[in-house]
Amino acid sequence: MYMINNKNLSGNKMILLNYVRINELVSRTDICNNTLLSKPTVSRITDELVKNNLLIEVADSYVTNANIGRKPILLKINPKAFYCVGIDIERTSIKGAVLDINRNIITRKEESIKYIKDDNEFMKDVKNVIEKLVIQSKINKQLILGIGISVPCTVDYNTGKLIDYSLNSIPKEIHLKKYLEDKLSIPVYIDNNANIRVLGEYWYGFGRGYKNIIYIMCNHGVGSGIIVEGNILRGKNSVAGEIGHQKIDKNGRTCTCGKKGCLEAYCGTEAICMNVKDELSKGMSSEIRDYICEDYRKITFELINKCASNKDNLCSNILDKAEQTLGIGIANLINILNPEIIICSGEFFKYREDVMERVKEHTKEQLFNLMGDDTRFAYRKDEDILSGVSPAALVFKNTFD
Ligand SMILES: [Zn+2]
Repeated sequence: MYMINNKNLSGNKMILLNYVRINELVSRTDICNNTLLSKPTVSRITDELVKNNLLIEVADSYVTNANIGRKPILLKINPKAFYCVGIDIERTSIKGAVLDINRNIITRKEESIKYIKDDNEFMKDVKNVIEKLVIQSKINKQLILGIGISVPCTVDYNTGKLIDYSLNSIPKEIHLKKYLEDKLSIPVYIDNNANIRVLGEYWYGFGRGYKNIIYIMCNHGVGSGIIVEGNILRGKNSVAGEIGHQKIDKNGRTCTCGKKGCLEAYCGTEAICMNVKDELSKGMSSEIRDYICEDYRKITFELINKCASNKDNLCSNILDKAEQTLGIGIANLINILNPEIIICSGEFFKYREDVMERVKEHTKEQLFNLMGDDTRFAYRKDEDILSGVSPAALVFKNTFD
């Protein structure tokens, strides 16, 4: 039996399918009027797609009772026609999901990668999770449009090569896209987690309806994903968005990158722990001493927040300074890029009350006059909601855009 699968879906067939996908319920006449396809082409392709069960014919419920002779027939995408796989690779786990073409989640899976030894084992683990997802979802592999993957490192977007994936704390180059495409024969798209997150927000989250979005992740590092006029800003070497290394003070604290005075050296949660440790080494008093018994390795970002909430001066001052500095960093971005919305996420915002509100106020104090007050702010509290879904958006974008 002839079957339309992910390999023979292109050209006019793709244009027609995409039009129906976006507009959800359309007639053959709608397709002729709104695409550049001729009537005979629409008729031929539609018949083929209906025969192959990719499009479903439905009677128009609004006019079926009217006495107008032939009942108008509308078309919609069969949600079971095609699927996408979305994979979130994090530092210690792989989370994946299979989605249908209407972006409904069919199945999910999560596996630990805490104890992997080398890059071969790592790539094999990713492949195994994908294969298990396909089996678990009981779908035909031929109907998978692509696999979208989010990784916590720099990626050469064109080759899908991971540039500095941290494997047992050693940065490594890994040819993940090539490996998976060779083994699975399905198109693979890979991007770093900040770009994937902003894409997920753009399609399904706080960014819906906006074309200029900055997504800020403030954890032990500070990074961002940026969408300008509906497209991810990648830059020449796919490394745009490294907002954590913008300069706040050229003689300031030393950053993980080796330079001085980067934003991350003040707002990264790791840097904040170092800052507290430095002050304690100088003999400063703080409630935090009661918890750590002089063992500085016991200092955590959560503990610093706990002491600050108990009105401890040292911890409060360091966190207040971090919030002010993040405000300066975000104001710099707004002054340069003039986004419609800033979406913040990460551990930085997690423990104290109203962190987001204060950062927003600090940002507004630093804005250039013409920026006005109309940039919106949102806080993405539960990042797991879009896990698996956001990387699948990369497949939709590459297949249909
Ligand atoms: Zn730096």
